[in-house]
Amino acid sequence: MGAEELEGKGEVVLLPLGTGSIRMPGGRAASGYRLTYAGERLHLDFGPGNLLRLAEAGEEGREVERILFSHYHIDHHADLLPLLFLRSCMRYDAALGQEKRTLRIYGPKGLREIYEGWRSIYGSWVEDEGLEIHEFGGGEGGELRIGSFGLRAFPALHSQPAFCYRIEMGGKVLAYSGDSGLGPGLVEACRGADYALLECSFPEPSPGHLCPAEIGQLVEEARPKRLGLSHFYPEMEALLRGGEAEKAGIAFPGLESEVDLLQDLVPRTL
Ligand SMILES: [Zn+2]
Ligand SMILES: [Zn+2]
Repeated sequence: MGAEELEGKGEVVLLPLGTGSIRMPGGRAASGYRLTYAGERLHLDFGPGNLLRLAEAGEEGREVERILFSHYHIDHHADLLPLLFLRSCMRYDAALGQEKRTLRIYGPKGLREIYEGWRSIYGSWVEDEGLEIHEFGGGEGGELRIGSFGLRAFPALHSQPAFCYRIEMGGKVLAYSGDSGLGPGLVEACRGADYALLECSFPEPSPGHLCPAEIGQLVEEARPKRLGLSHFYPEMEALLRGGEAEKAGIAFPGLESEVDLLQDLVPRTL
């Protein structure tokens, strides 16, 4: 069933737009997901390839209204730049220009600086009267409401600043690791969550990222009900493609269902 049919049923729908890393193994785009609930959409990260995946899903970038960034590695935010250019080009089409929506972007401190940097280079091509930038104050996280989505941010174990998120909507909780090693912030974000959307970068431990063995520890400690794995590097992709998931340790006791090995554009309901 496609994302639109699922959304029509009033469910919380997660549509992966990029389940790869910057190396984009097997044609996976870099990081990005779209959450839909009660007719509202919230993008989690917006990495390279997300705009193209959106187009493949039948949606234009100008329809994007809210993006929440986990951190500012380029594989998690770079498609914001062409999105701003796309919005700027709408001024040449009167009909499109009138349809321009407010674009609200959220994330750790640094978002405004990135935008101002682009503006100093590209000027009017990224200037946008419909753009709102919201930054979390410090590195310790906090709470925020974005439309129908209530969220809490926790410090990630990754290049700083970086957050893991716990997002509540429609009585469901989704935890999103962004990029993070196994740390207390990630454990808190995932505690008892209905769905934990986790990076699983490499088969073996690597600083600032998760591997299957660490995800096993996380499941034991935080007890999320379901798991979706993503953000694969080629080494991980090769294991998955070889049908060696079990050999790679991607089977965790204590879950209500099998682990979702996420694919671009294959939707999930929470
Ligand atoms: Zn990162
Ligand atoms: Zn990343």
